Amino acid sequence: MENVEMEGIPLMTCRNCGKTFIRTRQGRLFCSDECRAAWHNRRRKPSERYRMKVSGALERNYRLLAILVSRGVRSVCLHDPMMSGFRPDYMTSCVIRRKGKPLYYCFDIRYSLDDDEICCVEKIPGPECVDREM
Ligand SMILES: [Zn+2]
Repeated sequence: MENVEMEGIPLMTCRNCGKTFIRTRQGRLFCSDECRAAWHNRRRKPSERYRMKVSGALERNYRLLAILVSRGVRSVCLHDPMMSGFRPDYMTSCVIRRKGKPLYYCFDIRYSLDDDEICCVEKIPGPECVDREM
């Protein structure tokens, strides 16, 4: 890693992308927050990266479902642009029923899937309801 000074301006080479940047404070190693995150992410153990991927998908699903709940939308097509990024293969739990489609949970939001549609979206009072229904 270079630590060059050009005409009094302290320059650094980003540890991640190799771009030269102006060092605004001592000890800064990356040109941006994105480069710092990418560099640290590459150094994580595979199991940690996997956990981050799963929790990221669940958080994204929850944010999208919470928008539906807040707008009173009970059903939406998975291909609706508003649901972009929703991963139906990620859920916090699933209840298989004798009759009817399985119920899926993303934390305290429950829904079912019907072909390409997310339906019966509703917020349940609390996570303890999941245990009671199982
Ligand atoms: Zn960089």
